[in-house]
This record gives sequence, structure tokens and C-alpha cells, in this order.
Amino acid sequence: MTQPNAFSQFPDVAGRFGEFGGRYVAETLMPNILALEEAYARYKDDPDFVAEFDLFSRDFVGRPSPLYFAERLTEEFGGADIWFKRDELNHTGAHKINNCLGQVLLAKRMGKTRIIAETGAGQHGVATATVAARFGIPCEVFMGATDVERQAPNVFRMKLLGAKVHAVTSGRGTLKDAMNEALRDWVTYPDETFYVIGTVAGPHPYPMMVRDFQSVIGREAREQMLERTGKLPDVAVACIGGGSNAMGLFHPFLEDESVRLVGVEAAGKGLDGPDHAASLNGGKPGILHGNKTYLLQDEDGQITEGHSISAGLDYPGIGPEHAFLHDMGRAEYRSATDAEALEMFQLCSKLEGIIPALEPAHALARVRDLAIELGKGGTILMNMCGRGDKDVFSVAKALGVEL
Ligand SMILES: *Cc1c(COP(=O)(O)O)cnc(C)c1O
Repeated sequence: MTQPNAFSQFPDVAGRFGEFGGRYVAETLMPNILALEEAYARYKDDPDFVAEFDLFSRDFVGRPSPLYFAERLTEEFGGADIWFKRDELNHTGAHKINNCLGQVLLAKRMGKTRIIAETGAGQHGVATATVAARFGIPCEVFMGATDVERQAPNVFRMKLLGAKVHAVTSGRGTLKDAMNEALRDWVTYPDETFYVIGTVAGPHPYPMMVRDFQSVIGREAREQMLERTGKLPDVAVACIGGGSNAMGLFHPFLEDESVRLVGVEAAGKGLDGPDHAASLNGGKPGILHGNKTYLLQDEDGQITEGHSISAGLDYPGIGPEHAFLHDMGRAEYRSATDAEALEMFQLCSKLEGIIPALEPAHALARVRDLAIELGKGGTILMNMCGRGDKDVFSVAKALGVEL
């Protein structure tokens, strides 16, 4: 049986978080997965590896990111104090690079000469291409053909960074198809290739490894909160696409029983219809991309396309550790609609001088409720996981403003 308050012990040796996670992959993929697992176990606590991760986190990414008191939003909502962990200030504008740095450094240790990645909106592709460029490792990014058209600026960025972009035409030509294609490529060229997965999904050890690399967010934030406020926050809040920035924030707080953990999924046009991307609030357990977790699916168990105004939140699944924390009740999962995210995008820009990405704008909508719920004297820590420069065109369009 699971020990209460021992959530940070997971996954088990088979990569399971309770009934979730694991590795449901083709036999041909197993040697790659096992080699990766072995390399990660060998290097994760290796002093040279850790020192290199820390050095590049500091000088290339710009860590530690500041902790910031959002004074005017706190005043506006009229309740608990709101603090932002400012991961939007990282190089490339979001948290994704923390994980890419860790995985590319591991690829280098493993002697890999080729990096591949999947990408949806292109943010993970850009972050991977950025780190691959720095270490001089050729990079190929799989991207759904539909997304290649929708996200032309990010395709151009990846090319500037020296990456090759493959347009994937199978399925609907979106993120799920790109991930399938990347897995296929990895089986085809196993010896030279390292596959950098962009969120806490995929077969074991990815959900654990990505979480560990992203946990730099929560470790810094925990220390910074203690230093600045003299106590732990009452609640830690983060938005959820696949769940990597949330897991990175949550993990160092898992054993702090007093700290509530709240993830915010994309409710799109509302949970009562099909146009959302809330895998926990509107999906059910199944298997996708090598792990068992909550997924958006139709009555026949076919994976459905998620919808969100925010391209980073429309993955049709969620990391298996979130599924576990959800079912155990250690974390709560709420949601926010497109309309709420748009409202918060504008409010945060106006009041704090910070244009948030549409993803964390979802989290802000529930921060507002939590601020009122907790009242004055309470403290909320929210991960400002990305900046909104990338979103200004789609927000202008949604608001009917012509640029
Ligand atoms: C990609 C992205 C997300 C969603 O990914 P997670 O794995 O859930 O963190 C959220 N916010 C931003 C800014 C992103 O770029």
C-alpha cells in the first residue's frame, strides 16, 4: 500500500505512479528506453553532470528566475498575497528550456550525434533546437503539417537555429501525430538518436526525468518563498498542458502537507462540449504514447483532438504523475476557459506590466478564486511559466483587433 505523505517516492521501478505511467511500447523500442533509463540513473546525481546543468542553467537560461510579489493583482482580487515564479524570464521565454537542457546534456554524455523532438505549437521544438545549437548536435523536429502552417514563425525560428523540420501528414497533422512519428524515427535510428520529449509524458523514464529537470522551478521557489515570506505558500498553482511546468513546481512541495497544489487545465469553450483540453476534468484513463493516464477520448476509446485558445495546452493527455496525484487527492485540478484566459491575459498586462503567455493566464483565472477563498493573510505561489509575446497575434484576433 502507498504510504501517506510519501508521494515523492514515485514512480516505482517499473515507472508506475500507482496504476498510471509505466511503459507500453513496441518491443523494438525497449532497447532504446532501457539504455536511456540506465544512462539517466548513472548521470542524474553525477557531480560533473549536475555542475554542467547548473552552469548552463545560470549562464545560458538565466536561472535562478526571480520570485515576484504581484502587488497590484493582489489588490485587485482583494484576498491572499499573490507571488509569481518568473520562469517567463528564461531564455526562449518559458520553462521548456530547463528540460531541453537536461536532456541534451544527457544525450551528449551518451555519445548521441542526433537529437529529435516532437512539437505542437513549436515552443518545445524551438527550445530543443536552441540547446542543440549551443552544443553543436544536429536537430530534427517532427511537427504536424497543420501546425507547420499555423505556426510559421516558430518553424522559421527552428530553421534559424539550424534544425530540420519534418512536416508530419498522418492523422490530423497535429502534436499527437508528431509524437508518433518521432517515436517511429527513434526505433529506425536507435544508435545515434536521442529523443527529447517535451513534457512529463511518454514511456518511463520520461515522466520522471522531465519532472526532475523541471523541479528546479519548485526547488528555487520553495527556498525563495521561505526567504521572502518566512513560510511556505498556502497554495501552489500552475497551468497544465502535458503537465511539466506544474510537476516541476509541485514536486518539491509534495511532502509539505500544508501546501495545496492546484493544476489548471484548459476548459476551452466549456467542459460540457467537446472543445476543451481538460484530460482530468473531462477525460478518462487509457493508454497513449507509452503510458497509462487520463486522456481525451470518444466512446470508442479513440483519442480526440483537444481544443484551447492556447496552443501549449491542447495535448490530449496529461502526465501520469498528475493522474496519480489526482486520484490520491494530493493535488486538485480545476480548469479555465478561453474567455477567462483572455481576460486574465489583459488584466495581468495592465496591472503588473507583465504580458503572460495564454497558458499561465489560465492559471491566473483560478488564482483569482483562490485569493478570495483564502482571504487576506494567505499566500499563493503561481508559476508564470511563459511570456505572452508569442500570443499577441492570436489574442488580437480573438479580440477582433486588426494588426
Ligand atoms: C508548452 C507550454 C505549456 C504546457 O506544457 P506543460 O508541460 O504542461 O508545462 C505551458 N505554458 C507554456 C508557456 C508553454 O510553452
